[in-house]
Amino acid sequence: MKNYQNKAWLKGKYLDEKLSTLKIADLCGLRTHVTILDWLNRFKIKRRTLSEAKAIFHPRGMLGKHHSEETKKKIGRAFRGKKIGPFSDEHRRNISRAMKGKLIGDKNPHWNGGASFEPWGQEFTRELRKTIRECDKFKCQKCGRKERSRKHCVHHVDFNPRNNRPENLILLCRPCHVEVHRGEEDGRVEIKR
Ligand SMILES: [Zn+2]
Ligand SMILES: [Zn+2]
Repeated sequence: MKNYQNKAWLKGKYLDEKLSTLKIADLCGLRTHVTILDWLNRFKIKRRTLSEAKAIFHPRGMLGKHHSEETKKKIGRAFRGKKIGPFSDEHRRNISRAMKGKLIGDKNPHWNGGASFEPWGQEFTRELRKTIRECDKFKCQKCGRKERSRKHCVHHVDFNPRNNRPENLILLCRPCHVEVHRGEEDGRVEIKR
């Protein structure tokens, strides 16, 4: 019997030690955490919500703050050697171009050539998000699902909500978005085109 097929063991890891499902999968030598999720389900162990997970992994309002050096290193490691979506120069140029024709965009004092800006107006953010949607062709950049009635999310690749450079923004469907943020718990971020 595998460890994860033992309810007491799984409960201990997930609920008491508060390990993420990814971490547990790792311990068990599994490539993905799908099996762990399956067994949590079988044992009726309630899965943490995203906000509960965040509270564990980012205690006391980490959200919105800059990443620590350690986290940055982790993200760097996770991305190294991986094809991570459309953050090519071309992608950036496309977005800059798309933003330029708009009232907002380069006429906005906060635009700053697409560099990080702060504070940015709501109107600007809305316009930028719209542009990212269009440039990513309303498709999730992880699984390719097309946006329908439920809007996809504009995700910050480096998890820093202040970094609104176009190359840091990518369109993800909700399930993939949740997945990517869960992956962040362990510094395992995987976005493939
Ligand atoms: Zn997706
Ligand atoms: Zn995100």
